[in-house]
Order: sequence, then C-alpha cells, then structure tokens
Amino acid sequence: MRIKINISSDFEPNTSIPRVYGIYDYIVVGAALAGAVVASRLSESPKNRVLLLEAGGYQSRFSDIPGIDVFLSSLEFSWNYKTTPQTNACLVYYKYFEFTCPFLLFKQCPYPRGKGLGGSSIINTLVHTRGNKADYDGWCKQENPGWCYHGIGGNINAEYIKPDSPLLKAFIEGNSELGRKVFDYNGKAQLEVSKIQHDTIHGRRDSTGKAAPILPLRQDVEQYLNGYGRLTKASNLEGLGFFQTESEKTPGRPNIEIVIVPPSNSNGTEPPSFPFEQEYLEVLKTIDLTRTFKLGVALLRPKSRGVIKLRSPDPYEYPLINLNLLSDSNNEDIATLYDGIQIAVPKYY
Ligand SMILES: Cc1cc2nc3c(=O)[nH]c(=O)nc-3n(C[C@H](O)[C@H](O)[C@H](O)COP(=O)(O)OP(=O)(O)OC[C@H]3O[C@@H](n4cnc5c(N)ncnc54)[C@H](O)[C@@H]3O)c2cc1C
Repeated sequence: MRIKINISSDFEPNTSIPRVYGIYDYIVVGAALAGAVVASRLSESPKNRVLLLEAGGYQSRFSDIPGIDVFLSSLEFSWNYKTTPQTNACLVYYKYFEFTCPFLLFKQCPYPRGKGLGGSSIINTLVHTRGNKADYDGWCKQENPGWCYHGIGGNINAEYIKPDSPLLKAFIEGNSELGRKVFDYNGKAQLEVSKIQHDTIHGRRDSTGKAAPILPLRQDVEQYLNGYGRLTKASNLEGLGFFQTESEKTPGRPNIEIVIVPPSNSNGTEPPSFPFEQEYLEVLKTIDLTRTFKLGVALLRPKSRGVIKLRSPDPYEYPLINLNLLSDSNNEDIATLYDGIQIAVPKYY
C-alpha cells in the first residue's frame, strides 16, 4: 500500500495549458453520494450531456475493508482537513497515527472528508441510518414533494454486523431492562436501541477494488473473506440507540444517539475521535478488555453554528473550517449532551 498524506498544494494543476473535454449541458462537481445521484438522474434523458468531475481516484480493496476505516481518514482517500482552533471543544492534545501523520493538534480537531469516487462513503463509519420521518416530512412541506418520507427502497445495501459480541448483547439487554424498545431503527419508529446496520455487502464496502490489502492477522483476514468478523465492523461500532431529551419537542424525533464500542486495541484500530493520551492507554492496560466498552454520546441537533471561510484568494489553499462546537449562547448543546450522558449511564448520575 502506498501511504500518502494529502496537502492543499497536491491539488494544483501540473500544467497551465487548458485542455478541452467537450461541451456539456450540466457539470456536476464531486462524484460522491449526492453528485453521483444528480449525474445519474440527469443522464436518464439522452438529450443531456453530463460531465461528472471528481478530484480523487478510485476506491481500492484496501478501502473496502470496514475495520480499517480509521486509517483511511488520514490517507490519500481523505482531504485531510483540520478545524481552526476551537474555544470549547477539541481541547486535548490530539496525536495522529504516527505512521500516517506525525503531528500534534491542540484545540484543533481533524476533520476528515472523503476524496475519490464515492467521496466520504469511501472512509465513513458505514452506519446505515435512513434518518427521521419528521425531518423528511418537514422538507416535503417546504414545497419539496419528492422528499416526503417513504422509508423503503434505495440504492444502498444494508446488513447487520456479525457476529454479535457478548458486550453488544449486554448493551441490548441492559437497555431492554430499562424499558427501552429494541427494534429496527430504520423502520417506522426510531426511538429505540438496536444492533448496527452497515452499508456493506457481505461485510465489504460496495466498491470496485484495485489494490490488495496486507494485514498481519490471519484469522481476521479469513473471517473478513467470509463476510464476518472484526474487519467487517467500521470503528468497531456494534450497537446504537436513539433517544429524546426534554428539549426535543417533536414526537418521535431523537436528539441524542448513543453508540457502544467494545475495545479494538489489539489490532491498533482505535478510532481517532478518541485521543491516544498516555493516561488513557495506562488505564486500558489495567482493565479487562473483554468486559469493557465505550459509550459514545452524540448530539444530533446542535444549536451551535459553524462557519467556513476562504483562507486566501488562492483556490488551492484549504478553507478555514470553524465548527464552533458547543458555542451556542444559551449553552443548550452542553445541557442536552449532559442529559444524553444521563441516558447512557443512568445509575451513576
Ligand atoms: C469519517 C466519517 C464518518 C462518517 N460516518 C457516517 C456513518 O457512519 N453513517 C452515515 O450515514 N454517514 C456517515 N458520514 C457522512 C457521510 O459519509 C456523508 O454525509 C456523505 O458521504 C456525504 O456525501 P456527499 O455526496 O454530500 O459529499 P462527500 O461524500 O463529501 O463527497 C464530495 C466529493 O466531491 C469531491 N470534490 C470536492 N471538491 C471538488 C472539486 N473542486 N473538484 C472535483 N471534485 C471535488 C470530493 O473529492 C468528494 O469525492 C461520515 C463521514 C465521515 C467523513
């Protein structure tokens, strides 16, 4: 595998001589989920000449492996953005994987975005989530009749991860004991807990591959080739739950997502969103990893608003991406996250 980190100067053209590619009725920029659908629909009419432009290259058999997704976020499949320094978030020292990107960020977060045919779906965590009915129906009411929720069909394959781990079983049973529903979160209702559904086919990203993966763990590879096991799970996510706190007033619409992540340290694929602090590694050494898991609490409807600005008049300079996390004037985001933590570990709060 060739390891290459993208930087903004990589995108400067290697020639100043313009080339002619023909005349088109439509030019779609970006061949990812949105661009591919737009270009495909436009091409349905033989009258339309459509050009689909993509800055990145093809996916590979390496990027098809869900279990190595964390590495993809800092390799050639990613634009490798990072945020501007944040005031209320990204406050720990963040160390990228040494072999890919040996630098330290402080108050800045890495901000991966996919680059290649498929865009971020080449590097993402593959959690198959259709979205909430109330959102689609809201867009539909704003004079977008094609957006009304129907909840069936689509081009992306979904399947449950396998096999179930004992920790996933404990997560599901624990929530069930608390009276929470266990169901298909892509069905009619969403406020419930579930095993994760992945955007995979037989444990792989749906893609046309080129390069061959080189992996040391024979058993993992054998299982992967048979469509199950650790390498078929992106970021080792196994289960999730959607919940509503008091601040969300629309019936059935969640504002908190909780994911369960059993430890995956043995193959070094700890998700980069969890920093490799020495202290953290020391704690992991002392605990029984077969009985341990992480719960990630995500805010689904943040009130804080970010901003993207041009860094300079040079189009090849990366923009300034300010997520402005946890910055809303009434601190509602922090309050909702706190409520989310109480849902995740009710006994201890
Ligand atoms: C790390 C990560 C994890 C994620 N996990 C999940 C998940 O588990 N579940 C889920 O549902 N969603 C997840 N997402 C989000 C999901 O992948 C994105 O919402 C989705 O891919 C967005 O598709 P898009 O077509 O809008 O844009 P993108 O996927 O961002 O694609 C944009 C495309 O445009 C190209 N492009 C940009 N500028 C130019 C240019 N000037 N010229 C030519 N081409 C250009 C890029 O190279 C890229 O291919 C995740 C995203 C990331 C980054």
